[in-house]
Amino acid sequence: MNLMKNKKAGYVVTGQWAKKAYQEAKMYGEAVELASSADETFSYIPDCSDLPITDDMDYVYICENNTIYGTKFKTLPDTKGKVLVSDVSSCFLSEPVDVSKYGIIYGGVQKNVGPAGMVIVIIREDLISDEVLPGTPTMLKYKTQADNDSLYNTPPCYNIYICGKVFKWLKNMGGLEEMKKRNEEKAKILYDFLDESKMFKGTVRKEDRSLMNVPFVTGDADLDAKFVKEAKAAGLENLKGHRSVGGMRASIYNAMPKEGVIALVDFMKKFEAENA
Ligand SMILES: *Cc1c(COP(=O)(O)O)cnc(C)c1O
Repeated sequence: MNLMKNKKAGYVVTGQWAKKAYQEAKMYGEAVELASSADETFSYIPDCSDLPITDDMDYVYICENNTIYGTKFKTLPDTKGKVLVSDVSSCFLSEPVDVSKYGIIYGGVQKNVGPAGMVIVIIREDLISDEVLPGTPTMLKYKTQADNDSLYNTPPCYNIYICGKVFKWLKNMGGLEEMKKRNEEKAKILYDFLDESKMFKGTVRKEDRSLMNVPFVTGDADLDAKFVKEAKAAGLENLKGHRSVGGMRASIYNAMPKEGVIALVDFMKKFEAENA
């Protein structure tokens, strides 16, 4: 609503969140699907080097890390000069980011940063404007929030307090370079095992694999269910894949220590030996 001046925007549809954003945008203007990976259950990131972006588009939207499907944009789309808007909810602060490449970065804090109920927006200064889609509520204008130092309404103090603690934790460990190193190390343990296992398979094209969400399957729905049940009994929680894709998904966000991933892989090896 803040950016839709020509009432036209482009969307790269790489999963459920992107699809929801695309459908929602249609209520306010013309939303154009620039590319999609729906043809292969969103298991890859489409080629975004030459998207059909037209001059009248207000922005180009991506969902940078696809939480449910486990894909991640490793290179940003060529937006042909248009403003890039990125939902980073499930990869926020997982690695360093060049903010100058984006118009807007936004994300719910609940995956990597803090308690549910808050969104962080990083917006390019020149995009903060009074010129918004007519009918945009005052409260939803970035200008209102910016002019009031994000205190136009009473903010969620507890969430901000906890996020502050997480920022300090990140700084003390060596910042996002160090966080990235740890996340890569964690993900590698799991992906390496998936690549060598005869029972478990990753579902995502290798070059598009997420550092945060790792979906995998055995290829047999009953065996998947047995795995999830036995893993839970062994203290490994939340491994069931999203209901729309089935199988398993390990979400290894910033807060998950390396020991947690090692415990998962140990359990997978044991399960594979017992059920081969
Ligand atoms: C989790 C998530 C959201 C927001 O979902 P909630 O229902 O608020 O948890 C939006 N976009 C992405 C990419 C997400 O991962």
